[in-house]
Amino acid sequence: MNQDSMRIPQATAKRLPLYYRFIQNLHSSGKQRVSSAELSEAVKVDSATIRRDFSYFGALGKKGYGYNVSYLLSFFRKTLDQDEVTNVALIGVGNLGTAFLNYNFMKNNNTKIQMAFDVDQDKVGTIIGDVPIYHLDDLEEKLKKASVQVAILTVPSQAAQSITDRLADSEIKGLLNFTPARLTVPASIRVHHIDLAVELQSLVYFLKNYPEVAEEKSQ
Ligand code: ATP
Repeated sequence: MNQDSMRIPQATAKRLPLYYRFIQNLHSSGKQRVSSAELSEAVKVDSATIRRDFSYFGALGKKGYGYNVSYLLSFFRKTLDQDEVTNVALIGVGNLGTAFLNYNFMKNNNTKIQMAFDVDQDKVGTIIGDVPIYHLDDLEEKLKKASVQVAILTVPSQAAQSITDRLADSEIKGLLNFTPARLTVPASIRVHHIDLAVELQSLVYFLKNYPEVAEEKSQ
């Protein structure tokens, strides 16, 4: 994100890609304005939060008019650096890693997995979903050549920290960690942790212990 977005609270910043995706759809269907109530229904964020989020970037909706779709789209593009592709590397081409290689991230945002790494000789040298798979031994050299700044970790958890230590010595600035390992990184690297098993368990826990909330929301 660019300098202007520095003042936006982190919780708001995290919702921007969600808003951006929806606004993009509205724009391509030719819609020129959108109300916070419509946005709220589509992205499942309450409209007071949307109004507050939008006020941070100066998009002040008018009562009875809503927000201008083109303005929002150009704001999101600029803020999310959508004019510039972010090169991503994936490390660990197992079941989850393979699914990511086959998934077209470019559909919804400007991130592209440029390369993947593994230690399995059967996988090294192959190409999955247009993405070449290199040996982990070549990590530093390949990352540097392609100016990769973001890495996705889908290796077994016991391999995660040592790979992270190597990434810490590279130009990597962001790490999306899908392993259950809690990683230690220098201040120069930002880690977002997604543990799918924990998320699923947490959902089941909430369904069992707070069933009334789900019922209220569906009404
Ligand atoms: P997933 O957890 O994605 O479903 P999986 O169960 O198929 O994967 P894992 O054992 O979790 O397999 O390994 C994921 C991938 O990480 C495999 O392709 C494996 O070869 C690779 N891998 C294992 N150790 C390393 C390492 N040190 N560096 C890079 N890749 C590794």
